[in-house]
Amino acid sequence: MTNFGYRPDSGLMTAGADTRRARNRARVVAALREAGAASRAELARRTGLSRTTVASVVAELERSGVLVERADDAAASPRGGRPPRLLSFSRSAGAAIGIDFGKRHLRVAASDLSHAILSEAERPMLTEEPAESGLAAAVELVEEVLREAGVPRAEVVGVGLGLPGPIDRRSGRVGSSSILPGWVGVRAAEELGSRLGLPVEVDNDANLGALAELHWGAAEGHTNAAYLKVATGIGAGLIVDGRLFHGSGGMAGEIGHTILDEHGPVCRCGKRGCLETLAGTPALVELLRPRLGRSIRTAELLELAASGDSACRRVIADAGRNIGMAVATLCDLLNPELIVVGGELSRADDLLLDPLREQVHRNAIPATARDVEIVASMLGPRAELLGALALVLADPGAGVR
Ligand SMILES: [Zn+2]
Repeated sequence: MTNFGYRPDSGLMTAGADTRRARNRARVVAALREAGAASRAELARRTGLSRTTVASVVAELERSGVLVERADDAAASPRGGRPPRLLSFSRSAGAAIGIDFGKRHLRVAASDLSHAILSEAERPMLTEEPAESGLAAAVELVEEVLREAGVPRAEVVGVGLGLPGPIDRRSGRVGSSSILPGWVGVRAAEELGSRLGLPVEVDNDANLGALAELHWGAAEGHTNAAYLKVATGIGAGLIVDGRLFHGSGGMAGEIGHTILDEHGPVCRCGKRGCLETLAGTPALVELLRPRLGRSIRTAELLELAASGDSACRRVIADAGRNIGMAVATLCDLLNPELIVVGGELSRADDLLLDPLREQVHRNAIPATARDVEIVASMLGPRAELLGALALVLADPGAGVR
């Protein structure tokens, strides 16, 4: 998995000081990978190790050439004096790959271990296509970004894969989903891993959006938060006590299937009147058909709403209200301090968010409504792709292998 010269489970370490040193090194490496760049003091805080131990591990890693050091000018004292030194992995220490399958696209990015994006590529892709062609396209795009970044495949420490469907955490298989019909039952991480010859971890898109916003976006520094992806489907990624919460089988956060109307339209999940049947973008587009006389894409819905079309504005506001009903329950259950709203519909911004906030305030317990702030995604359409990178860089073990 890593190429930092330590193999914690190789059985080659002898008991005692060597084991302890290897364990300390692994902790410092993991903490620095998560942080991207950090001072020695920050690493001591993150690992719980003493400053002396951290300094000795850092010295060893510097000698082997995997760490670089620079002055943290942003943290320099206004009264002068030496600015703190920031450590990060050198380019040669390795690279990570993130892959995001959306409803209509496939995106791939490569980054180094200090969290800098080295290259990125995208191509149109339909999720209706069989897993076979999706996986083949992913392999091609991974090769393209590695070539562009000048990174040999052997330097890749891991691949994070995001799919717009539920992943069973026990079997690693893609669960039943009408968004990903060609993928049901496929062990996506295993399949892609064997094609690439690299370790792959997989998670669903809403969870990856949450992970990205937690590490680099609107939820940075928060410990209890939720990321809502509002697009064709509606899903939530839950951050509980600073970690992604998956539930026992990986199905936690399926907020799109909260029932709002028992006699409402039949949902793809088999129930009736789920939030998704009322506020997912296909439902909104369908509602507008009598007025527009045709079916439109979400992008056009957003443009028409921005240009003042009353029906388009109304359906988006009503979607916000419906989502707010489900979010109010989420607030009462988890008492989050932050809800980040992403996905394509979040580009409507306050047109969607104001009615959503209003419903949360009307329907959640006053104390939980008071605690929560509801904001738009900071990372926009790249949230899921960055989350796939975070799966490798910042949260080892979060996904399913
Ligand atoms: Zn449903």
